[in-house]
Amino acid sequence: MTFLGVGNARATSLGNSSIIIEADAKPWLLVDCGFDTLDKFQLRYPNSLPPAVFITHCHFDHIGGLEQLYFLARFSDKRPVVYISHLLVSTLVSVLGNTLIAEGRENVWDVLNIVPVHNSFFHQGTKLYVHPVRHHVPNSAFSLHMPGYFFYSGDTRPIPEIIHHNVNNNEIIFHDCGIKGNPSHTGLDDLRREYAPNVLNRLVAYHYATAEDGLHFAKQQIAYAQPNQTFELNNAATNQALITLPQRA
Ligand SMILES: [Zn+2]
Ligand SMILES: [Zn+2]
Repeated sequence: MTFLGVGNARATSLGNSSIIIEADAKPWLLVDCGFDTLDKFQLRYPNSLPPAVFITHCHFDHIGGLEQLYFLARFSDKRPVVYISHLLVSTLVSVLGNTLIAEGRENVWDVLNIVPVHNSFFHQGTKLYVHPVRHHVPNSAFSLHMPGYFFYSGDTRPIPEIIHHNVNNNEIIFHDCGIKGNPSHTGLDDLRREYAPNVLNRLVAYHYATAEDGLHFAKQQIAYAQPNQTFELNNAATNQALITLPQRA
């Protein structure tokens, strides 16, 4: 799993926060698609598109690249899947519909294959779980979880009620965190106050403001992700690689 960007909405040099998960050295699932995400994706995988993207929420630093994804896919034979909470479908359809990007007798969703998801969904046979997080209006932002492998918070305040109760299979936890918290995002003090040591030990902060913030994370002994940094996702219990694609005859 590689971070294409780790920044908050204003952190241009760190890139919009987004990850790409690979299986068998090929892109498997993109999480969020901000304004610069596809440029960074294509630096890593030239002339390629993500086969699927999971959207955590509809702020533009997380969906701003979907218009570009539409155009790149429209003029190729690719039809990327867009997984999104069923509660956000109307927001996303309004946003992309109102840009009038599909012309003639076509729909945006002829090209972007939207798949509404509830508490869990299957991506190429692998089950992923979706938990609501705390970011603005209730039920407007969601995390992504593969038990035993990883948890990706999306933008959120601390969510001990989710992490302490559901994310306890020793998986690595990627968590929104800036230096100072605010009503929408987690800060360093919040982490220490809200989470048990066995959560902090496996937590990696992302969605921060400047490269210098890394010094503060390091001082507090909180791990943090950097742009283009790759993390191996092994099952915490068996040390097996994350995904083994079925061999096709
Ligand atoms: Zn954000
Ligand atoms: Zn946000």
